[in-house]
Amino acid sequence: MSIEDNLRPSVMLISPSDIEEDIKKLQDKLKSHEELELNDIAKLKEDAQKLWDFVSWLKVAQVQGVWKSKTCRHSINGRCNAWNISDPEKIGLTPDKIDESDNSKRVIVDKFPNLCVACPLYEAKRS
Ligand code: SF4
Repeated sequence: MSIEDNLRPSVMLISPSDIEEDIKKLQDKLKSHEELELNDIAKLKEDAQKLWDFVSWLKVAQVQGVWKSKTCRHSINGRCNAWNISDPEKIGLTPDKIDESDNSKRVIVDKFPNLCVACPLYEAKRS
């Protein structure tokens, strides 16, 4: 083998246009990936906003429930005397929220003002 043979490049040459094409393909892939991520992020933001709106609505409802439980004429010493709930557990009320002192099942609205939120029996206390 001659000296010149050893000096020949052993690296295969690639045309710059091939590399440019590969880079362009990669850029296109990256761009579509970024667009996908942007769409996902926009969707996540939209979902988060819907949840915040729902939480805000729940907070307003809770405040209304507390206010009604304090101002309703059927609420006496924190207990609602209008409703007699036959099966409290069926509607998710635990025994600590029920008063059975007079052989009925009355909701302690001081502990569970959510009952008042949409109650059709609300009447303001008369002074
Ligand atoms: S608003 Fe309804 S649930 Fe609440 S205390 Fe009055 S009657 Fe009872």
